[in-house]
Amino acid sequence: MNATFDFDICIVGAGVVGLAITQALAPHYRVLLIERHSRAGEETSSRNSEVIHAGIYYPHDSLKQRWCLRGKTLLYEFCQRYHTPFNKIGKLIVAQSEQLSQLQALHQHGQKAGVELYWLQAAELKQREPAVSAAAALYSPSTGIIDSHALLQQLEALAVNEGALVQYRSELMAAQAQDVGWQLTIATADGPFELNCHTLINSAGLGAQSVAQACSGNNQPRHIPPLYPCRGQYFRYHGRNPVQHLIYPIPDANLTGLGIHTTVDLAGQLKLGPDTHYQNQTDDYHVDEHARSQFAQAAQRYLPDLEEHRLQPDYSGIRPKLSGPSMPARDFFPWFSEFGSPNPFLHLFGIESPGLTASLAIAEAVTNWLQTGENHYLMP
Ligand SMILES: Cc1cc2nc3c(=O)[nH]c(=O)nc-3n(C[C@H](O)[C@H](O)[C@H](O)COP(=O)(O)OP(=O)(O)OC[C@H]3O[C@@H](n4cnc5c(N)ncnc54)[C@H](O)[C@@H]3O)c2cc1C
Repeated sequence: MNATFDFDICIVGAGVVGLAITQALAPHYRVLLIERHSRAGEETSSRNSEVIHAGIYYPHDSLKQRWCLRGKTLLYEFCQRYHTPFNKIGKLIVAQSEQLSQLQALHQHGQKAGVELYWLQAAELKQREPAVSAAAALYSPSTGIIDSHALLQQLEALAVNEGALVQYRSELMAAQAQDVGWQLTIATADGPFELNCHTLINSAGLGAQSVAQACSGNNQPRHIPPLYPCRGQYFRYHGRNPVQHLIYPIPDANLTGLGIHTTVDLAGQLKLGPDTHYQNQTDDYHVDEHARSQFAQAAQRYLPDLEEHRLQPDYSGIRPKLSGPSMPARDFFPWFSEFGSPNPFLHLFGIESPGLTASLAIAEAVTNWLQTGENHYLMP
């Protein structure tokens, strides 16, 4: 790219997606990553279930499905290569007798996507998980858990080692399209400063719409999809973890969330969540302790001996959804400039779950797009 620019590429947002893209591009370009907080992953990337999803649920050929399947493979390889803590613990999706047809539909859907899945009858399920009560289950051996903080640290170390500049306490305020490239105004603790870059990549998560709105010139996205922040709360279970796998119920029909499920962290601690609360704020992370009995009842449908008094409010995360309550789920939505544009940009909207799993696949697609100019890497 042109040496008259301060940077070839500026990436906005040091969540897992911005960091994954930065470390992928750093060997090839002069890259700046800016983040408004004082460290990486302060928002959604450190407020999730830390599950490496198998890719069972998403519509066929959607970006969520494609990037989840590819991202899962890349993430397991990454963890092995860089010793990032993970555990391919496996997951059970459990169904009561009136839900068997939904479980069958999920089985077919997942198998069509190429996900390894096994049907377990009640007796087999009892053998595997004596504490779980259900009529049948789907076993997904390729689902796992990961230490998301270790992943963020490793991605940042790789990016910096390859020469990327990662700048914290730096918030993108404006991006003005120039004859070629972009002039950026960035707010810092030392006041605003300006720099220019050739290509702008917006991986600002819950801030992606605001960043897109801050872009001026003919290249502002023609359609900025509305943001519907959706908080998901977690409760921690203080007691012996009675299960070996991640246990999920049948998801709700429009996939707002995957249902209140049990996950385990790498220390073996059980937690329940997340639920779904649409809200206007993108910074309200409160956990309502009155939700305890609702969490207990949801989990007791398949874990009858779970004791409500052992549940303690833990943390919450906010999904950057592109669909509101009762609306059909929407796919990840990359909005990017046409090949040869003098002001290349990519806005990544709606990177909700499975964005953690998909992060390395998104980085791969962005690299391919930049290097070949081919759009299909970013299209469902
Ligand atoms: C409750 C919940 C559970 C989830 N569970 C899973 C799961 O188990 N598995 C999975 O695969 N995915 C899961 N996800 C999804 C996953 O966490 C996200 O898709 C992923 O973390 C998104 O990463 P990101 O980098 O796009 O966004 P973020 O982590 O939000 O990073 C964006 C960054 O941009 C910064 N920023 C915003 N605006 C500006 C600006 N103007 N200037 C500078 N910086 C800015 C923010 O400060 C932030 O750090 C879950 C999400 C939630 C909410």
